Amino acid sequence: MEGKRTAWCFTGTYSKHTNFFIQITILFFILVNLPLNDAAFSMTILHTSDIHARFQEADKYAGTCSVEESDNGECYGGFARLASAIKDTRQAENNVVLLDAGDVFQGTLWFTVYKGRASSYFMNLLGYDAQAVGNHEFDIGPSALADYLRELNASAVSANMDVSQEPVLEDHYTPSVVLTVGGERIGVIGYVLPRTKKISRGTGKYAILYLISRF
Ligand SMILES: [Zn+2]
Repeated sequence: MEGKRTAWCFTGTYSKHTNFFIQITILFFILVNLPLNDAAFSMTILHTSDIHARFQEADKYAGTCSVEESDNGECYGGFARLASAIKDTRQAENNVVLLDAGDVFQGTLWFTVYKGRASSYFMNLLGYDAQAVGNHEFDIGPSALADYLRELNASAVSANMDVSQEPVLEDHYTPSVVLTVGGERIGVIGYVLPRTKKISRGTGKYAILYLISRF
């Protein structure tokens, strides 16, 4: 675009879980058409990943936070803290974008009992702009993922999935989404690690395309 320059911003994560989760596999790319004058536009990206149904605060072992531990300030995370941090940032900064890199499924009784419904409920409360589809989102099969994506208000993005053999997932996500932030067009592209099919507990016929072979 004339008078603009394009910048790529990588905001994904790749980390190892110590307990029962294998790996984080989701990546985000953000494509921004920036004005030539850098001072003309600034954006704050808030990014979460691997929430794993931990909507309540957790102890230092990522387990249940007891009342005593909570009273003593010995617990961490949870959506109440997250909501406060996001609210504060939105009030303090202009052009705030809220993204999640996936794996909102699996990890606590919230997921065991409510499947993806708890995740969509809480994610919608925080007002995410976009979410990449994580490997654990496939853990209980494509239909449960479709149910989650149907209820999710955020744009679900995944550029390297071929779900032609799992039509239940069609129309519930797009490869990318363009957000309008402060008058600028911000491209967000989702990517799921190709070996998701091997490490996910769920079954399905979906294929992960090797559109991006390495980083
Ligand atoms: Zn994870």
